[in-house]
Amino acid sequence: MSNIPEIFGENVFNENVMRDKLPKEVFKKLMKTIDLGAPLDVSIANVVANAMKDWAVDKGATHYTHWFQPMTGVTAEKHDSFISPTAGGKVIMSFSGKELIQGEPDASSFPSGGLRATFEARGYTAWDPSSYAFVKDGTLYIPTAFCSYTGEVLDKKTPLLRSMDAISKQACRVLALFGKDVKRVTTTVGPEQEYFLVDKKYYDQRKDLIFTGRTLFGAMSPKGQEMDDHYFGTIKPRVAAFMADLDEELWKYGLLAKTKHNEVAPAQHEIAPIFSTTNIATDNNQLLMDIAKKVALKHGMVCLLHEKPFDGVNGSGKHNNWSMSTDAGENLLNPGSNPKDNAQFMLILTAVIAAVDKYAKLMRISVASAGNDHRLGANEAPPAIVSVFLGDELERIVNDIIAGHETEGAGASKLQLGVTTLPVFPKDNTDRNRTSPFAFTGNRFEFRMPGSSQNLGCINMMLNTAVADVFRGYADELEQAEDFNKALNALVKRELTEHQRVIFNGNGYDDSWVEEAEKRGLPNLRCTPEALACYDEFVDVFEATGVLSETELMSRKEILLEEYEKLIKIESRTMVDMAKKDIIPAVAAYVKELSDIACNKKTLGLNTAVEVKEIEKLSGLSAEAYDRVEALVAAIEGGNGIENVQEAANYQHDTVIPAMDALRAVADEMEVNTAAKYWPFPAYDKLLFGVNC
Ligand code: ADP
Ligand code: MG
Repeated sequence: MSNIPEIFGENVFNENVMRDKLPKEVFKKLMKTIDLGAPLDVSIANVVANAMKDWAVDKGATHYTHWFQPMTGVTAEKHDSFISPTAGGKVIMSFSGKELIQGEPDASSFPSGGLRATFEARGYTAWDPSSYAFVKDGTLYIPTAFCSYTGEVLDKKTPLLRSMDAISKQACRVLALFGKDVKRVTTTVGPEQEYFLVDKKYYDQRKDLIFTGRTLFGAMSPKGQEMDDHYFGTIKPRVAAFMADLDEELWKYGLLAKTKHNEVAPAQHEIAPIFSTTNIATDNNQLLMDIAKKVALKHGMVCLLHEKPFDGVNGSGKHNNWSMSTDAGENLLNPGSNPKDNAQFMLILTAVIAAVDKYAKLMRISVASAGNDHRLGANEAPPAIVSVFLGDELERIVNDIIAGHETEGAGASKLQLGVTTLPVFPKDNTDRNRTSPFAFTGNRFEFRMPGSSQNLGCINMMLNTAVADVFRGYADELEQAEDFNKALNALVKRELTEHQRVIFNGNGYDDSWVEEAEKRGLPNLRCTPEALACYDEFVDVFEATGVLSETELMSRKEILLEEYEKLIKIESRTMVDMAKKDIIPAVAAYVKELSDIACNKKTLGLNTAVEVKEIEKLSGLSAEAYDRVEALVAAIEGGNGIENVQEAANYQHDTVIPAMDALRAVADEMEVNTAAKYWPFPAYDKLLFGVNC
């Protein structure tokens, strides 16, 4: 193992490198942009670009790329070399400020939801100085935002940056009410990334994994996760070697990789970095997913980031630990130790609770994807109903505020925010409710609904926007108050009363919660098309906060609906292909062998009852499978030509997915009745337990 402090961030053009390589004035101006979100001083761009290039070339870079996050769900990059011709047929390595600040990738092949057609066919990328550039595989990567020529967003990062501005602006207003002069509030995120590792030799034999990232067929292996022996279990040497390599790679990119362990399902693992500013956490998480896949390949394994690679064991999420922090480093979700700080904490906590309730559907939309539909509500991940967990102590305080009671432990006097001290909350994690979608964990909220493959940008953009909007309302109201403390107490009481319905400390997996939530009027959007249909309800809040215009919002809805439709189409076609070309022929071959055995035995006068029974069973199942393949083909064809994107997505969900499920059921039944050597691809036992040394 290398010397970690020495290698940490060695591939990154970070603050230290900038201080070292840039003239003092330039460095100062750049830091102002980075720390306070001040507009970039273009005059410094040339100097920064040149320094960046020299540094990158020293690290072996020959190219640069504007690295961006289009709506495809993965990152995009186009590499240009630094070469520039000079007299005499030679070249020099050059990189200008203009090239650093703006790029013009041919954008016509990225999803735009009709945006580019309406405006300009071209898109451009703009440097995001708040996220460090880095060198990877001989290229200087410049994190950028991606917009249409007229400025409409085409990516997942721009709205996130806008939402960070929106929440900062409103949070500063709220803090000013408490006499604090804060210039910038940033949201912080620490994502816990779950993933599976499978042996590459098995992966390569499964078209479903190759095309869709998940198994579309597969009977459960005799052993699953029932022994609870994988979670936090001893890490196998091959996996440990992968994890060590991954850590080292991530450290070189300045990623604060911190925690790693085995997860609940066999072959499932987790990695969590130390939290950072949201846009950096988002970029880092994209990089982490990319690097994890590459490092796994080096170890002969494939890293699966799909939300539900295997039926019958847990799927993978990406817990989004979220908080807000001032430029002075104050964590706004940290309960303070004096009355004034506690009042501030209660107001901020109230705002988050109110935001999650008021924008519960938006929170659900933020995590809607075809893959995540397999997790949410499946008794392994939070339900599709959005609720907030506070823990006993804090819930008691909330209840007391609502009832106007004295709070135990707060002394004899009535709890008055800003006057009396709140009791100390235990920050102990033991009573943490794993079934809650949005849990307070002492000094942050843990949003547990996000799926393992999702881009954190969209999720946090929506969360930030929701909270920013509530802050705005509170600031408007309290800035007018004659008696601040009185108004604050009244507001907190009123808001908690109104939004108390979203607080739920019980078991989110329990069926009774679904009923209870319905009684409370909480939305339960069960699947992606149903969730995305609600997009239109949020035009006002996105416009008011300046995060997305109506056109931008609607283009996103269209893109996501289309993405859903396309994914299910790929999955269903892959199933037809595997069933027709692999499964049904394999079973026929096995039936032939059984028949040959039966015939031979018969000529010897032996009993063939067992063979005949098996042949009958498998012939019956094959006939059924054939019919279900035909039915699936018909369902797929029925979906062609549906113009309206919402209807097209609904159709996939309502008609195609049930036909897929029906086919899988009979195919899995065939699998358990077919000799292993005939089965055309590796079964669950190999996939889940194949990395065993
Ligand atoms: P657990 O598995 O117990 O939930 P982990 O240690 O795996 O916890 O992950 C917790 C994550 O929360 C880490 O990434 C950590 O850095 C992050 N975190 C801690 N404090 C904050 C904060 N103020 N804002 C955002 N994330 C935070
Ligand atoms: Mg964890």
